[in-house]
Amino acid sequence: MSDTKTSAGNRDPRYDCLFEPLAIGPVTTRNRFYQVPHCNGGGYRDPSAVARMREIKAEGGWGVVFTEQVEMHHSSEISPYIELRLWDDNDIPMLARMADSMHNGQALAGIELAYPGINGPNLYTREVPMAPTALPVRTFTNDPVSARSMTKRDISNLRQWHRQAFRRARTAGYDLICLYGAHGFGVIQHFLSTLTNHRTDEYGGSLSNRTRLMRELISDAKDEVGDTMGITLRLSLHELVGELGFTNEEVRELVSEHSDLPDLWDLAHGSWEDCSGASRFKEEAAQQSLVMGIRELTDRPVVGVGRFTSPDVMVRQIKSGVLDLIGCARPSIADPWLPRKIDEGRVDDIRECIGCNMCITGDMTMSLSRCTQNPTFMEEWRRDWHPEIITRKGTSNNVLVVGAGPAGLEASRALGQRGYEVVLAEATVTLGGRVSLESALPGLSAWARVRDYRTWQISQMANVSVYPENTLTASDVLSFGSEHVALATGSRWRNDGVARYHVRPIPTQGNLPVYTPDDVMAGAAPQGRVVVFDDDHYYMGSVIAEALVERGAHVTLVTPSAYVSEWTLNTLEQGFIHKRLVELGVDIRRNTAVTELYDTGVCCTDTYSEQSTDVSCDAVVLVSSRLANDVLWQELRGMENEWADHGVKSIRVIGDAESPAPIAWATFAGHRYARELDEPARTPESPLPFKRELARLAGS
Ligand code: ADP
Ligand code: SF4
Repeated sequence: MSDTKTSAGNRDPRYDCLFEPLAIGPVTTRNRFYQVPHCNGGGYRDPSAVARMREIKAEGGWGVVFTEQVEMHHSSEISPYIELRLWDDNDIPMLARMADSMHNGQALAGIELAYPGINGPNLYTREVPMAPTALPVRTFTNDPVSARSMTKRDISNLRQWHRQAFRRARTAGYDLICLYGAHGFGVIQHFLSTLTNHRTDEYGGSLSNRTRLMRELISDAKDEVGDTMGITLRLSLHELVGELGFTNEEVRELVSEHSDLPDLWDLAHGSWEDCSGASRFKEEAAQQSLVMGIRELTDRPVVGVGRFTSPDVMVRQIKSGVLDLIGCARPSIADPWLPRKIDEGRVDDIRECIGCNMCITGDMTMSLSRCTQNPTFMEEWRRDWHPEIITRKGTSNNVLVVGAGPAGLEASRALGQRGYEVVLAEATVTLGGRVSLESALPGLSAWARVRDYRTWQISQMANVSVYPENTLTASDVLSFGSEHVALATGSRWRNDGVARYHVRPIPTQGNLPVYTPDDVMAGAAPQGRVVVFDDDHYYMGSVIAEALVERGAHVTLVTPSAYVSEWTLNTLEQGFIHKRLVELGVDIRRNTAVTELYDTGVCCTDTYSEQSTDVSCDAVVLVSSRLANDVLWQELRGMENEWADHGVKSIRVIGDAESPAPIAWATFAGHRYARELDEPARTPESPLPFKRELARLAGS
């Protein structure tokens, strides 16, 4: 393995304050980079994958590395979501491997203990959920289950279970325990908030009563393990649920009254949706006003998050006294080596998070998380992909990459890193493909970082040449003289409405102007009344609606789904998107499909009743599906018998040109192509392209 730039000692002195050690109770972090707990879709199903992912972050310089949430007792769990468990001693080896991995990279190992309570439907254990007050469980899927009120005996049991979990966490080798009371996901918050705590005994009512359980748990933790472990408390800065919720004023009151209670205050924000705000809706450091001033209420360190990727913004947080430690989840996913790059004076090499929240979809879909910017995320163990280190090139020497979208750019970057001679040909004058086009749409400017990171890296490589304004034909490709060719020619939006509702073109009579997202991205500005028909269900329909309103149109958004931009439920954006469209005056029609186009409007059909109504309009934008731009590939396939005569050993189609999908799929495809070039073919004995971790059969 080779090829990573290191230059210790080159740090810009203005970032020195980020590298000062700090005590957290009895332990000390080597610097101010604090990877707050984050999910990854792997959890207890893929423990070695998670452990290796965390190890690389520790190696990349994070002073503190945390697990995701760990269900600390079997009476409360959040299946179907896959996190970690510490239900009995059998779970210790898995968690010990995680802690060892963090220590291997010299980080403090943190474990986040959660008792989900009213947030846990207990679909797996079938235990009756418990909460401060009996109410239906509060989950993403509104599960038809209620939590019962905890008795004093239950509270006493809960304290004992926590004591057991603290001891197990110490046995597993952790240095820090985080008690989870944020995002609506932990019992501490459920007691703190009058939304979920309606008790009339000493655990309910006044703030002092509502903090009782929190105080007891922290004191138990200190008593049990506080001599060797730091005890941190994770709270939401503001529950943001109206008058009943736990407010920012109450957080401040709590911190000033109990200022030295935990060894560190870990301040998150509202719900998970609020805290992990996508860049479309939230700026970097968006929580600053809610955190400001809290540090003055305590002499214990304060950590906060805010999708920090800029070292200058980080320094400002520390120097202005807002935070002591820079908390990061997504920025540490996009670039696990972020601290090390700052330390080595390689700030330009940081792969900045774009705030797309694709990583979160791995948890929400119970699959394995992906990152748009970092295609190696959650592949560190199963494919042995390191985000910064890559195997030297194999026996071949040169590669032609056609198309400089995310797939072509990532393939060229990673091939260049391996040491191949790479030529990247792009038809247009601009690099970036769909990323350059989409980042010009409302709210998506941060997405240009996918292009900018890669074009900068490529510009530093003498072995990668870029030729913009070069549209290659099949004969150009063959006569070019490269041994290998990757076709990353992208895709285009269909203009006939074919997607999910319609698998044949929408019936059309007359000449209603029809546009696609490509037309709008190219500058088209249909005026008057415009219907946007969204049968894509990700972000594009809503972004196009926003762009058209900005350009002066009156927009009606029609979708066959019950939700606007349904798939963005997985990126935690759906509520924000709907709200924004309402604020922009967009007329929203759900459970409705555009079923026919007329000269003066469209026919809309209710997807349940099948009743139709006409909606008059001046134009329609069809946000349906995309077609691969694979003409070049089809032509070259037809000429396969000529490849060898031209010295061509392989031609592959990658990214959207193979099959359209989100940008994260394209960067992954480009990266995979580069990794696998010249690698031995798989054998029937080991047919899988990755390792799996299989459960051991009981009794075996
Ligand atoms: P992906 O997401 O798979 O990377 P994109 O659509 O973002 O796909 O990018 C594809 C890029 O390929 C675009 O920038 C496009 O201009 C370029 N391209 C398409 N056909 C050719 C061609 N024949 N020669 C050179 N570049 C091409
Ligand atoms: Fe950031 Fe998107 Fe990667 Fe998540 S998937 S870490 S939001 S770039």
